[in-house]
Amino acid sequence: MDEDSKPMPQTRATHFINGAWTPTGGPTFPVTNPFNDDIVAHVAAGGRAEAEAAVAAAAAAFPAWAAMPPGERQRLFLKAADITERRLEEIVPIMAAEGGASRVFAAFQIRLSAAMLRQAASWGYLPYGDMLRSDVPGRVATVERKPLGVVAGFTPWNGAFYLAWRTFLLPMAFGNTTVIKPSELAPMSAGLIHAEILEEAGFPAGSFNVVAHAPGAAQTVAEVFFEHKAVRCINFTGSDRTARILGERAGRSLKRMVMELGGFNPMIVLDDADIDDVVNATTFGAFLHQGQVCMNTRKVYIDRKVHDRFVDQLADKVRKLKTGDPRDPGVIIGPLITDAAVAQTAERVQDAVARGATLVTGGKAQGRVFEPTILTHVPADAICTTGCDETFGPVLVIEAFDEVEQAFAAAQDTPYGLCAAIMTRDHARGLNMARQFDTGIVHINAPTMASEAALPVGGVKHSGWGRSGHYAVEDFTELRLTTLSSKPGQYPF
Ligand code: ADP
Repeated sequence: MDEDSKPMPQTRATHFINGAWTPTGGPTFPVTNPFNDDIVAHVAAGGRAEAEAAVAAAAAAFPAWAAMPPGERQRLFLKAADITERRLEEIVPIMAAEGGASRVFAAFQIRLSAAMLRQAASWGYLPYGDMLRSDVPGRVATVERKPLGVVAGFTPWNGAFYLAWRTFLLPMAFGNTTVIKPSELAPMSAGLIHAEILEEAGFPAGSFNVVAHAPGAAQTVAEVFFEHKAVRCINFTGSDRTARILGERAGRSLKRMVMELGGFNPMIVLDDADIDDVVNATTFGAFLHQGQVCMNTRKVYIDRKVHDRFVDQLADKVRKLKTGDPRDPGVIIGPLITDAAVAQTAERVQDAVARGATLVTGGKAQGRVFEPTILTHVPADAICTTGCDETFGPVLVIEAFDEVEQAFAAAQDTPYGLCAAIMTRDHARGLNMARQFDTGIVHINAPTMASEAALPVGGVKHSGWGRSGHYAVEDFTELRLTTLSSKPGQYPF
């Protein structure tokens, strides 16, 4: 049997509701491989009925899950972490087939997910309140963090496996139950594999639920979440375009929203930086998952004194990145997710070149595999350099600067505020600049993409609201004030 005809390791391709896989035989939709259009799986196509059943199950499971002692929850999370790692070799090919993820990117996400599950295992023991001082004699006041109830999560297709874990475990670690609506482009990597793992780990029925849906049905499922009174929070990871639609809808139902959205992430390289390190950091930061991650570096601002050497070295390294079928473990650049993504990336490169930019390397696609592309001398009005809209593909813009203050001001001139990076050997200068960035994250001497399980990820401005890591306690709990007065009160009338 040759490599191509080996059966794909399968995951269950139907909804997981109230502790059970729903029977197959209902409507399905095909999920296709973006590299070769093969059908990866026929996945159950849910709608209003499945979403309602899932929310009802999560609501029923909430009181017991919220009351579960932290040590019991901890054991479940640790077990899920072990299962996730054990299944690495089965999950990597699913992520390649559904989402075009290279082995490097898939394995990175799986290991990061296991680490995050282990972090989350301890969050049940975090202090969950404060004693406050009262001006009223004889009164004691406490505030206590309480879980919200049911949290409905929307997961994306890009960093699907890791981002879906985040969508399940942040709310669940703080005592909420969940209903997840995975992206229709990669439903297995974005939720169904997780349901298998949580089921095997022994999480109670109803504490997590997954409803898959066909393209075009996202709104039908979402509407149930917005309408249902048991759903107290919408936890969304995706584009700011969709976030605007959901945010407006959430306003009508007055539901809390947590959002992790896009970025237009700059890297500023000062003249004293270690250029070999900058080349490695930029290659990883700009081209991991062929530029389809919210944290990818979109633009490098570099001191003119080191610009030419950097561009030459970077282009040399980037030209050697292997492109093609992500099932080949040596491939770094796999396919973009859709024809529309390829068309948009191509249009933006052509737009820049037509306005006078220099195409250093790349610029063409073979099928949906777009070459890693470097542009310099890009005029300020080219779409890919304005910072107003992410180009979700392997396109990096490099701009030389003479005055770092101007570069800093330009790097901030974007509606997004997710990540930034500064490369310098002068740590004090780097820290000083970092503190002035209006972003959720700044790395000094690391790429914009430098995730760790214990560190909070999240943005400001159009990059979203909310943080991962244990800071998510702010997003997925609410404070309840309790006072106790031990003396009769004094009242004005
Ligand atoms: P991406 O560009 O990363 O695919 P999207 O914002 O399109 O991001 O998708 C993220 C999630 O939002 C997916 O689960 C998708 O199904 C869902 N989604 C997209 N459009 C809508 C919509 N109009 N209503 C509800 N959910 C949506």
